Amino acid sequence: MTTIQRIWRIKNILLRLISTRCLECGFIAYPPKASCPKCGSRKVVEEELPKVGEVLTYTVINVPLKGFEEFTPLIIGLIKLGDAKVLAELVDVKPEDVRIGMKVVATLRRSTKTLDGVIPYVLKFKPLTLKLNTTT
Ligand SMILES: [Zn+2]
Repeated sequence: MTTIQRIWRIKNILLRLISTRCLECGFIAYPPKASCPKCGSRKVVEEELPKVGEVLTYTVINVPLKGFEEFTPLIIGLIKLGDAKVLAELVDVKPEDVRIGMKVVATLRRSTKTLDGVIPYVLKFKPLTLKLNTTT
């Protein structure tokens, strides 16, 4: 089985946004945690988050870290997914086109770095509305 086929097979699993909801205080943690980061309770249950969310706020990083010059500008958004808030990179959008309240959808992007033959995929968010684009 080729790597590509394997990726498609696991894509839907990776794209599931599993969080944990605290049964004591209601706090939702993403990525999931064995205990609540807010109140410390271990009474947490797994809960899948919706894939479509809304940008609550965002920041644009123009000053790159050494060795990461090619990744700027980098847009980091705080995204509301149901009752949860998730910090993630926004892709397929220019910094000047990002809007608060904009609808975004989860997408898997290949990371540039390969760790021991494992191709790491990273969860990012892209605008939900498709626009005609001359670049890919
Ligand atoms: Zn809690």
